[in-house]
Amino acid sequence: MEEKKLVVITGASSGIGEATARAFAAAGYPMLLLARRVERMEAMQLPDAICRQVDVLDLEGMRKAITEAEGQYGKVDCIINNAGVMINGDPAGQDPEDWQRMLDVNIRGVLNGIHLVLSDMVERKTGTIINMGSIAGRKTFANHSVYCGTKFAVHAITENIREEVAGSNVRLLTIAPGMVYTELLDNGCEESARQGWLDYAEQIGGALDPKSIAQTVLFSYQMPQEVSVREVVICPTGQEP
Ligand code: NDP
Repeated sequence: MEEKKLVVITGASSGIGEATARAFAAAGYPMLLLARRVERMEAMQLPDAICRQVDVLDLEGMRKAITEAEGQYGKVDCIINNAGVMINGDPAGQDPEDWQRMLDVNIRGVLNGIHLVLSDMVERKTGTIINMGSIAGRKTFANHSVYCGTKFAVHAITENIREEVAGSNVRLLTIAPGMVYTELLDNGCEESARQGWLDYAEQIGGALDPKSIAQTVLFSYQMPQEVSVREVVICPTGQEP
């Protein structure tokens, strides 16, 4: 059996990232898991998983962790740039600091992950970069303006770099979930925006389990290198917009 190569997952301490780490561990991949809440990642006790407390805005911290993991498991074959924040609310009343935070984590964090592996993957003519987009990267939603802006950016950047490295056999994929039950709503959303999200989820019979996104990420990665699942939009069936 072919030896499994190193997979890096950012934002692996909760929600989709945590579910993805569990799915890749079950499939036997060695992993580097990155997030700020390192104790949450360590508590999963996954085999062959290096857990490091790294903010995705800390480029050098990310570089150090990746170098360490590559020393143990060989070159990164896949990075899943999943870390993200959503701070929803009425744009007229939102704090520009919250806008900045979303722009930083959701765009710059993803770019840091891309930067640290891309040239090496191009040189080796193999590798996969999976960026967590969103249905909010395809269409707009009330109270989501800046979050949507960041996710539109993720989609555009992923697609553009995909075109540029396609000839080098490197894949860039966007996974774009709809509503998923995670901790995403719990980090600064206005209460009315938060409640609106939860009410709508209830109305449609519930948001998705993060495990469904994790399976989709794993499936997309496990397709042969010459097959590019460029973009998957995955939502609850009952979700209308
Ligand atoms: P969670 O809040 O459960 O997870 C977010 C993860 O990102 C956490 O592990 C958090 O770890 C990490 N994170 C946040 N900021 C940073 C940072 N500065 N540095 C490193 N890690 C960071 O939400 P989800 O699982 O829902 O979110 C995962 C991704 O999925 C996001 O990109 C989100 O936009 C996207 N998404 C989610 C949807 C949903 O409905 N839930 C729908 C569409 C897309 P820690 O705090 O420990 O650093």
